[in-house]
Amino acid sequence: NYMVQLKNVNKWYGNFHVLKNVNLNVKKGERIVICGPSGSGKSTTIRCINRLEEHHQGEIIVNGITLNNDLKNIESIRRDVGMVFQHFNLFPHLTVLENCCLAPIWVKKVPRREAEATAMRYLEKVKIPDQAKKFPGQLSGGQQQRVAIARALCMNPDVMLFDEPTSALDPEMVKEVLDTMISLAETGMTMLCVTHEMGFAKSVADRVIFMDGGQIVEENEPNEFFNNP
Ligand code: ADP
Ligand code: ADP
Repeated sequence: NYMVQLKNVNKWYGNFHVLKNVNLNVKKGERIVICGPSGSGKSTTIRCINRLEEHHQGEIIVNGITLNNDLKNIESIRRDVGMVFQHFNLFPHLTVLENCCLAPIWVKKVPRREAEATAMRYLEKVKIPDQAKKFPGQLSGGQQQRVAIARALCMNPDVMLFDEPTSALDPEMVKEVLDTMISLAETGMTMLCVTHEMGFAKSVADRVIFMDGGQIVEENEPNEFFNNP
């Protein structure tokens, strides 16, 4: 009944032991926030789950599929797992709508009309349907990040991963992205979020995980976590 499971996961960058026996169980519908100092392995953990990185020891299971590095396995995981990055990673030469439709059309073979209808539905959910025909460069950072969220949702993922989605944004745009994430949480989406936004963690997270030096050093419900100096 777990959406994501990490069992004794270890990873090295060269000689550098970046993940040390990481164990994590994420239930369907659970919202997990991962925090901790810079360099502690948060991003690497997230990137191992969607196969942007490979791990070297232990097991990662997503939606019942044990991850290995063969291409079929990677493709199937990328369909199940939506990812939102710090720097949006939109295609600059494609419109907002085209960004949202690319993977559904080319990876999932969804007919264009249907992909566009779905994309418009999600662009409305993230409150930027008027920007559909614009290019990412014409949008604010906050709007671009909401496009990135809509784009991930267009693949109808089972779990959404967020890697510091607000840390590249100007302060006045942070709230609109957090609000989008909060309303997504309210739909029951399974979410794994690396963020320093403790207000978000407090209001949305079922559990807060604290990483340090490549290890999970603490794991608590948000209330316990914040009352525990
Ligand atoms: P966090 O997300 O907690 O800031 P990361 O997972 O990004 O941490 O990085 C953990 C450590 O691994 C850092 O010390 C970082 O410098 C190092 N690191 C990250 N990516 C690479 C890489 N591709 N090659 C070598 N070292 C890396
Ligand atoms: P239903 O019609 O089944 O009640 P919704 O229309 O509320 O579902 O949502 C359908 C999907 O849209 C959800 O599974 C979720 O992925 C996505 N979604 C809903 N609200 C938002 C939002 N505010 N921001 C981003 N995605 C959302």
